[in-house]
Amino acid sequence: MFLKVAKKSQIEEKHKLLAKIRVHLRNDDMAKNLTKEYGIKGWIFDAVPLDFKDIKVTAKTVNGTIFLNPKINKMPFNIVMRYVIHEFVHVLQHITEEKDGEVEDDKKQEYLDREDEVEAFQHQIKYDAKYRGKDAAEEYTDELLEYHKIPREEKKERKKELMEKVK
Ligand SMILES: [Zn+2]
Repeated sequence: MFLKVAKKSQIEEKHKLLAKIRVHLRNDDMAKNLTKEYGIKGWIFDAVPLDFKDIKVTAKTVNGTIFLNPKINKMPFNIVMRYVIHEFVHVLQHITEEKDGEVEDDKKQEYLDREDEVEAFQHQIKYDAKYRGKDAAEEYTDELLEYHKIPREEKKERKKELMEKVK
C-alpha cells in the first residue's frame, strides 16, 4: 500500500459514514418492519443507493436513490438516521408505486399535504421518539408544523396525524 498522504481521505470518510448509515439501517427494527409492510425483502438494505450531494434540503430521494446533504456530517448520528428513515420510506414508496418507469422527486410545495410525505414523516417521528424520547419527538413535530407554516387552527389535527405511530 502506498501511503502518499498523512491527511484523511475525504472519500474514505464519506464512504465510512455511508457504511455506518447502511449498517444502522439494516439493523434497525423499524426499518426491517417497514420493508415487511411494503413486501420488500432484505436485499433492499444491500441495494439502496446512498450518496452525498449538494442539495438545498437536508436529504431527498429521487427515483429510489437517497441523496444526503454533506452538512449531515456535523449532525448527531441519531438525527442523521431520522432523515435517512424518512428517505427510506420514500425509496419503498418509489419501488411499490412506480408506474410508467417514472417517479417524481419528493420535494414539492405544500408537501405536508401529500400522503407520501405524511407517511414518511410519521415514520421519521416514530424513529425520533424511539431514540430521543416522546417529548423530543413532539417538540420536533411542533417545529415541523411551524416550519411548514401550518395554520394555527389545523395544527392540533396535523400533529395528531404526524404522531400517529408514536406509542
Ligand atoms: Zn419526504
